[in-house]
Amino acid sequence: MISWVQESSKKQEHLQNASFFVWLALHDKCWTAARRRRHNLQNDDACALCGQESETISHILLTCVFSRVIWFNILQSVGLQLLSPTPNQLAEFQEWWSSSRKRIQTADRKSFDTLVVLVAWSLWLERNARTFGRQSRNTAQLIPRHQPGGE
Ligand SMILES: [Zn+2]
Repeated sequence: MISWVQESSKKQEHLQNASFFVWLALHDKCWTAARRRRHNLQNDDACALCGQESETISHILLTCVFSRVIWFNILQSVGLQLLSPTPNQLAEFQEWWSSSRKRIQTADRKSFDTLVVLVAWSLWLERNARTFGRQSRNTAQLIPRHQPGGE
C-alpha cells in the first residue's frame, strides 16, 4: 500500500504492540481520561490532543480534530481520503473501521487493517506522551514520510 505500512509492519514488535493496543481499544479497555473520570480517578476528562472534548477511545482514535488531520493526510496519501472520519462522525471507532474496510477492494483490506492499527497506535502514543508530560508533536510530525528507509 505505502512504504510506511510495509516498513512498519516489518518491525514485528512494533506491530505486535500496536495490535495489542487496538485489541484493548476495541474492547474499550484503555484508560482514557473519560474512563479514569468514570472511576473517580480524576476530575477532568479533557482530551490530551485537543483539550476540548471528553477523551473517549473513539474520540482519540477517530473524531478528535487532531486525529482527523492525521487520518485525512495518511488516507489521502493512499487515495482513500473519502474514508476520512468527518467532524460529525457519530460512529464508534470499530464501526468506522468495519464500514470503511468494506468500501475498499478485498485485496487491499489487509494493508488497510495494518494502516489503521499503526495510525491508531501512533495516536495513542502521542496521547500518552502528552498525558504523561513528555514532549508533544504536531500533526505534521506524526504524518509519516514516504521515503524508502526513512523513519
Ligand atoms: Zn480531542
